[in-house]
Amino acid sequence: MKVTRIALSKNLNDGKYAQLVQQASQLGRVRSLVWRQYGSVAGVGVRDRTIRDRWLRDGTAAGFGVLANAWKETVRDAVADITANREAAKAKVRRAIIRHTTDDAERKRLFTALKYDTWTADPYLSRQMRGHWKHGRNRTHNQIVVRSDQYRTFTLAEGGNVWLAVPGLERRQLVRIPLNTTMEPTGTLRLIIRGGRIEVHYQIHDGALKSSRRPCGTREIGVDKGYSEVLTDSDGRRHGRELGRLLTTESDQRKLVNAHRAKLRSIAEKASARGNHAKAQRIWTNNLGMLKKERRDAAWRARIRDVTFQAVHTVVDKAAMIVAEDLTKTFTSRKRLGKNTNRRLATWTKGVTAEALEAVSGRKGSAVRLVNAAYTSQAVPFTDNLGVRKGDRLHCPCGAVWQADHAGAINILHRASDPDITPHTPYRRVRQILQERTDRQRSRLPDQDSSAGSTCRCGERTIRSLLNREH
Ligand SMILES: [Zn+2]
Repeated sequence: MKVTRIALSKNLNDGKYAQLVQQASQLGRVRSLVWRQYGSVAGVGVRDRTIRDRWLRDGTAAGFGVLANAWKETVRDAVADITANREAAKAKVRRAIIRHTTDDAERKRLFTALKYDTWTADPYLSRQMRGHWKHGRNRTHNQIVVRSDQYRTFTLAEGGNVWLAVPGLERRQLVRIPLNTTMEPTGTLRLIIRGGRIEVHYQIHDGALKSSRRPCGTREIGVDKGYSEVLTDSDGRRHGRELGRLLTTESDQRKLVNAHRAKLRSIAEKASARGNHAKAQRIWTNNLGMLKKERRDAAWRARIRDVTFQAVHTVVDKAAMIVAEDLTKTFTSRKRLGKNTNRRLATWTKGVTAEALEAVSGRKGSAVRLVNAAYTSQAVPFTDNLGVRKGDRLHCPCGAVWQADHAGAINILHRASDPDITPHTPYRRVRQILQERTDRQRSRLPDQDSSAGSTCRCGERTIRSLLNREH
């Protein structure tokens, strides 16, 4: 279920307030026009896109005095209001149909015509709808709907209140609104301007709300960032397992789309070279626009954020301290990642995980401790042996087999109390330290030629660690 959250502006200056009042009032005129032209039978079955295209073509849009995105979102919103208004009337007509006939087939026909808005062709239904559907008009002159890819949020200080930057009346002119909260609004925003301040309405999932109200747990948990899931913890639990599939399908999809766009681009360039500029221009505007692509990308990013935050919530639920590697450090430069879509997306999701660990911990009162993760994916837990990675398995010289991400999470947890390896210990030095420890260990053993031999009991420790877990 979705619930509406409201953030409020705090100490917004008069100039910005006046700017937003003006924008909302100009958008109110757009709403009124939608209601006037499409609020009755004339608007039945007309989609917001159709209205937009019509208004762009006949020049109506030129008179709005607001940015294209703003009035287009307003048209969409007004059409949704009109639809809701019409649906309310339909509920009454349905009751009338039940009184009107007892014939099942006839009832079904009428219900279907009502549902799919083909009732205008039926005299009985038209009469009923006219009777129950009061012609509404727009009463909203103080709202601005802002799509998720049209605004950004930022803070001026670490952990400080969030600021919201939304488009103003001119291109590239942003209105920066200070909010009264440290939680950033997400998704589509509805700004309601009233009482000298801005209300920022947005929707969140009820599930996220509930878990964000729960306090953190009591344990120390290590986490390892995987590819096929958001995190694996030191109990061996995987969180956010749909991540891998989301990444793979998105990566494949982007490759397809990019290949298609490259082909169109070359067609456009060839047309241009031959002097067919009209054709080139048509391809550029109709097939190579960024709008659809940006919208798709934004939806995908929102989905990843959702999965990631949910996963981090379940870890924080049992942890007072989360030990993790510094995920922002492992960023490879964009240039080096080059065209490898898959790796680029994976890198981006790492950043989201880092952000979620910080944000959720801060909110629920747990701490994040960042440690040096060198060799944590190769060392066998509870020992200093380096194992052999094969796929998602880690093989200890003693023969025990570990799930690699689980092993990594345990190692990361232990790094928090490692006296020799600090976050600043160089990578090579970490290997030396591990080697020295193994050598020391071996020199104490009677049988020196067995590498880790039958004396390693890492396998037993796994089982014990798994038995000890709370769930
Ligand atoms: Zn072992």
